[in-house]
Amino acid sequence: MQGTGYFTHSACRRHEMGRGHPECPERLDAIDDRLLLTGVADALLQRQAPEAPLADLELAHDRMFVASIRGLSEQVAEEQLAGGPDHLQIDPDTAVNASTWSAALRSAGAAIAATDAVLAGEMENAFCAVRPPGHHACRRQAMGFCFFNNVAVAAKYALERHGLERVAIVDFDVHHGNGTEDIVAGDERILMVSFFQHPFYPYSGADQPAANLVNLPVPAYTRGTAVRELIDTHWMPRLEAFRPQMIFISAGFDAHREDDMGQLGLVEADYAWITRRIKDVAQRHAQGRIVSALEGGYHLDALARSVEAHIRVLADL
Ligand SMILES: [Zn+2]
Repeated sequence: MQGTGYFTHSACRRHEMGRGHPECPERLDAIDDRLLLTGVADALLQRQAPEAPLADLELAHDRMFVASIRGLSEQVAEEQLAGGPDHLQIDPDTAVNASTWSAALRSAGAAIAATDAVLAGEMENAFCAVRPPGHHACRRQAMGFCFFNNVAVAAKYALERHGLERVAIVDFDVHHGNGTEDIVAGDERILMVSFFQHPFYPYSGADQPAANLVNLPVPAYTRGTAVRELIDTHWMPRLEAFRPQMIFISAGFDAHREDDMGQLGLVEADYAWITRRIKDVAQRHAQGRIVSALEGGYHLDALARSVEAHIRVLADL
């Protein structure tokens, strides 16, 4: 079992939340361009993301909520035919357009298909270059640019459909993954470890609500060296003791120093270091099995460089 998969789909570029929105299709273009330019793309197993089956989305989400996202997306498409607006705001940060439903299905479908491919031994690990992102999506609520929780869906899928007993979720986005926490808190088959800027959107996570969560709130202007120490002190012993059979990564790159969405000071070398730590755990306990899915990262150049650094470690390049 070797090689790194790269799952994406053109539908992920057709979801848009309005002119100037930071969670924009150009994010995926920047990543693709960088991977092509550097030759990294040539070393990856390129795969088209399928649409997630509804029954699998419903492992993490309420059925009526899933139907409501479809309904809103269809409503925008219908109203556009009569001259209506091209997107519909569902909160101040998050909007649906006519392509949101299909993009969200491909996003979650990428994480599911990557899970299948890794567990089938077709590849050692995989990165999903997808949008919309997922880690703010709760069981019954879309928020913070997220609709379906791609990583939580895939983690539940690995447990329920593949019969794994223990999986870990690692979230290194600058924001707290409140949606993932909403879905996995109290599920002892899942260990979730994260750090995030605090106090900061979505203003949750500092209160350690369940024993299967390792939440590390860090103040603004924390540098990568300090984050690395926290990871070695707090994540690693828990991950080692848990012995996950597979690891999922909520790979947000908005803790980068150049990313104005947050105020943390990580750089490419920090993302490579964190990925190495995760990979070490995966190789000791999980036959190397990792599925990583894109979350945040809004400075296009810093995002592309950071994803490259992340993938180079995953793929041993
Ligand atoms: Zn974020």
